[in-house]
Amino acid sequence: MSPLRAAIIPVTPFRQNTSLIWCEKTMRGAFVDPGGEIPRLMDAVKQTGVTVEKILLTHGHLDHAGAAAEISETLSIPIEGPHRDEDFLLAKLEASAAKYGFQGARNCTPTRWLDDGDQVTVGEIVFEVVHCPGHTPGHVVFVQKEARIAFVGDVLFKGSIGRTDLERGSFDSLIHAIRKKLFPLGDDIQFVSGHGDMSTFGWERKCNPYVADFAVDDDDLEAPHDNRA
Ligand SMILES: [Zn+2]
Ligand SMILES: [Zn+2]
Repeated sequence: MSPLRAAIIPVTPFRQNTSLIWCEKTMRGAFVDPGGEIPRLMDAVKQTGVTVEKILLTHGHLDHAGAAAEISETLSIPIEGPHRDEDFLLAKLEASAAKYGFQGARNCTPTRWLDDGDQVTVGEIVFEVVHCPGHTPGHVVFVQKEARIAFVGDVLFKGSIGRTDLERGSFDSLIHAIRKKLFPLGDDIQFVSGHGDMSTFGWERKCNPYVADFAVDDDDLEAPHDNRA
């Protein structure tokens, strides 16, 4: 059985699913998308007894990355991800926080930018990095192949997909990423989204009105383009 364990902690008024994931063998772990409510996140660390060794970010939106800088500094741990194309969002987290009336969010500079095909480790567990632009240009997804689970941020939701009307979003790129990069990983892969319930790629392939087999003709999909203004 895979040593991967996970606890999901919804944070912020956006009910963003921060995951505390860990390797049961080493009891070393990571936060995926710590958006806020640091005391609640630290409570989960205490309850599980995990030693948090890094922060993983799927993308640069406030509800996902708002608490990353502070936790990184407090625990002296690195931030890995997202892709470099998220720099414009991570550099204005404080401004976004002011706009939405958030407390305490800070701008953030990852220790390591990630590219498609990179790997990240948590304890002895290896995750594959898949670059999935569309919701934001530098969004990445973390896939753990043995445990058959993916952390997909705001790329894909149960029955829906991420918004593409935000800055530098691209509907075509998002559909392309989901159909051509995520679904081929296998119908049995479960995923944790940034918001809402878990699902599987197979279920979405069957039922999701945006990306199901009945809704999309893969031959019509255009390769993603750089939507930088
Ligand atoms: Zn987002
Ligand atoms: Zn979100």
